[in-house]
This record gives sequence, C-alpha cells and structure tokens, in this order.
Amino acid sequence: KVRVRFAPSPTGPLHIGGVRTALYNYLFAKKHGGDFVLRIEDTDQNRYVEGAEDYIIEALNWCGIPFDEGPGKEKGYGPYRQSERKEKYRKYAEDLIASGNAYYAFDTADELDAHRKDHEEKGKTFIYNWHNREKLKNSLSLSQEEVQQKLEAEEPYVIRFKSPQDEVLLLKDVIRGNMEIDTNILDDKVLFKSDGMPTYHLANIVDDHLMEITHVIRGEEWLPSLALHYMLYRAFGWDAPEFAHLPLIMKPQGKGKLSKRDGDKMGFPVFPLEWKDPKSGDVSTGYREEGYFPEAVVNMLAFLGWNPGTEEEFFKIDELTRAFELERVHKGGAKFDPEKTKWFQQHYMQQADNDKLADEFQKLLEKKEIKADKAYIKEVVALIKERTVFAEDFWDQGYFFFIPPTSFEPKDSKKAWKEDTGTLMAELKQFLSTEENYEAENLQSTVKGWIKSKEIGFGKIMMPLRVALVGALQGPDLYKIAEFIGKEETLSRIQTAID
Ligand code: GLU
Repeated sequence: KVRVRFAPSPTGPLHIGGVRTALYNYLFAKKHGGDFVLRIEDTDQNRYVEGAEDYIIEALNWCGIPFDEGPGKEKGYGPYRQSERKEKYRKYAEDLIASGNAYYAFDTADELDAHRKDHEEKGKTFIYNWHNREKLKNSLSLSQEEVQQKLEAEEPYVIRFKSPQDEVLLLKDVIRGNMEIDTNILDDKVLFKSDGMPTYHLANIVDDHLMEITHVIRGEEWLPSLALHYMLYRAFGWDAPEFAHLPLIMKPQGKGKLSKRDGDKMGFPVFPLEWKDPKSGDVSTGYREEGYFPEAVVNMLAFLGWNPGTEEEFFKIDELTRAFELERVHKGGAKFDPEKTKWFQQHYMQQADNDKLADEFQKLLEKKEIKADKAYIKEVVALIKERTVFAEDFWDQGYFFFIPPTSFEPKDSKKAWKEDTGTLMAELKQFLSTEENYEAENLQSTVKGWIKSKEIGFGKIMMPLRVALVGALQGPDLYKIAEFIGKEETLSRIQTAID
C-alpha cells in the first residue's frame, strides 16, 4: 500500500513551496488509494517556533488536503512528532556503530574550525571523512580505552556516519532518473548528538522506515542528502523507498529561488494563511486573508511544476487526484506567477455558488451597516459576479444597488455632463415619473423610444443617467440597475445629480 508523508519542521509558517510538497504527496497517495501522513520534524529545538505546527495543520485543512495520519490522528504508527519519539533513535545510532557504519567523534567546534583554517591555508577544503578521520578525535582513530574513558567522563560527542571510500553510488529519482555519485566527496554526516537528539538525517530515515513510507516526495533542496539516505538504508539493511525531488520554485522575475521574504516585497502572498511572527510581531499576508479561494490556490500550486499533458487548466482537487502523475513533474525550476493565481481565482469566482457569495456580500454590507434582504443580495450577486475576482469586489461593483452614490467620479462626470444635460435629465425624470413598469426590458424600450423621439444621441442620456445612478461610468446594465433600485430611488438619484 502506498504511504507518503509530509514532514515539515515547525520553524515558521508553511510557505507555498511547502504546501505544494504536501499537495503532491496528497495527490499521489489518493491516486493510489494510499495514506497521507503528517510528521512533525521538531528535533531541532533551537529552531522551534511557537504556533508553527498549528499553522501547518490549519493551512492543510484550509487547502482541502487533509492528512490521514498525524498529530491527533493516531493510526498505529505514532507518535507523529519526532520530539515524542526521542527514545527510539539512540538505539539505531548505536546499531550503526555496532555494525561498523558509524562512530563516535569527540572533536570540539574549535578544533574543527582549526582544521578547516589549516586546510584553507593550503588551498584545500577540509572534509570529515576517510581523508582526515585518522587525524581527528574519534572512535576510529583513538584506542578503545580512550573512547571508553571519554564516554565515561561524559565528554560531549556526536555519532557520525562512516561514508565509504572510493565507491560510486547509483541513486534513483522518479523525476530526475538515475544519478551517480562518488562517495569520496561525501562527508561523514552527524547522525546523533550528545544532547540525546538525532539529527534530521537519522530521525527522518528511521521514521520513514518505521512508518512504512513507500515514496518520499520532497523539495529539491534535499537532493544533496539523497546519497547519505541511500547509504543509511543500506547500512540498516532496509529497503529504501522511492524518491521524487520536486523542482524549485523561482521568483516571478529575475533569477533565484522564491524566498519567504519575496511576497511582502513584491506584493503577493507566499503563505497560505496570514502569519504573525511571535517574536517580531510582523504580519505576513496569506492567500486566505487576501480573499483567494482554496481551489484557486490549489490549482495554481498543482501547475507549479506539473502539467497534465493536455490543454486543460482547471482542476479541482478530485480532478487533480485522477490526473496527477509523479512522472509528469518537471525537472527544471517552476517560475512563480502571481497573476496566474488571480486568473484561477477569477475562474473559481465565476463557478462559486451564488448563495455562498451572497453570504459573503451580506457580511460586507453589515460591516457598512447596510441591511438588505438575502434574496435581493443574491440577485445582485448574479448580476455583477462576472465583474468580480474576490468577494471583496462585490462592494465596489455593487454598492449602488444598496445606497445612492456618495460622490460622482469627477472624470466620468466631466465626460457625461454637458451644458444641456441638466435640462435633459429633468425631462427624463419627468418622463420616467409617468412610467409604472420598471422592469428592465420595458424601461429599455420606453427610454429608447423617448431618446429617439428627441432626436439626440444615446450617449447624451445614457452616460449622465449612469453617473446619476452609479456615481461613475461603470457597472452592469443600466436598466437592470433601475429595475433593482426601483422607481422612487431612480427618480431621486436623477434629482440629486441635477442638483
Ligand atoms: N523536515 C524536513 C523539511 O523540513 C523534511 C525533508 C524530507 O521530506 O525529507 O523539509
């Protein structure tokens, strides 16, 4: 059975790159009838950020990519927070020492620095592996007694992986194909620290094994760790899962990786939800708070590094689940395009249920202390929806269905209002006051007839009438507006404009 995991470290809010990783994992799991596991990788206590885990879970739920297993959803593989699995890891590190695949190292940070400097002076790079092991303080270079002594004296140590000499490893990646790597360039990575905590590498491999993960789908930044992970599986004698490394997400313009700071600088969100930094108090905006629908964000993220191989662009989550294939994920970096997200948003706005949108609009109206009937709001929504991208836009696009314009857009008034307009509008008002049927269709034919009979251009009436009813030269069909606001209000707005 397919089992995948999303394994964020709670070091801050989940950015859209992380959400994409979660999404691809989810899609792959669902496509294959598998499980999507959330594992919190919180072994690095120095980088732990309050609230980050809650944020991650809320973000996944908002996006509509819920996990099957994880904190609070125990399914027999838990606990799902690495800090709660602490006792499990030491044994595995010690197993590796026993099998000759790892060793204790006692070098202090200062000593390692000195080695680095020393190498630099000779124009070389220091690398902690078989090149230098002999000269360093570890259980491969020291006598057994010395090692025992140090351990008993509780000298700080780390456990390092012993990477092999002169070997070429074959690494497989579902997206990138096969890669070869020379082990001589790999350093002996730290697996376990004397504070009793494993490093990412050890905890990650042990947990993927214990949680029976079949496919590891993660960001490209983890590709350099793949060789070590392969060697760890081999050293433990475990079958490695399949790996798939997702392409980087690039800045919209220029070069380089999209960073967490880019959003605020460039004016678009890079986080699914708003985030308030607990230390600085800085607030970064999120897609949810900017009014985006989760469908739009998910659709955008799906295409950030993948395509279905057809012309089709609109995919809701269940359609994605059917269409998604790991093999179709691109190798090259995916350029982030904030405009595209808006375009998806516009699409899903048009698809959205009018009843739900009316609820949103009603909230906006209530904020402005305007009371209106839900059924009426819903009719307005149907009329102006095509002009909106976000629910917020309903106000700008439709305030005039609820209140008379509070001002007239100067540029539009100048364009619409000529010397004889006052007189013409007074005549129009007179004419409209005799009309009883304010249905748009009827108004259209009578007003048209009236304008024709006066032998003047349509613009001479329609433009100032629009300014009178709306406050600007914008909005949907003018006769519809008149029908919606009714006779009394129409006449009163014309009068206000004349005055
Ligand atoms: N904890 C790692 C991260 O924050 C997980 C990497 C992986 O998926 O192996 O991205």
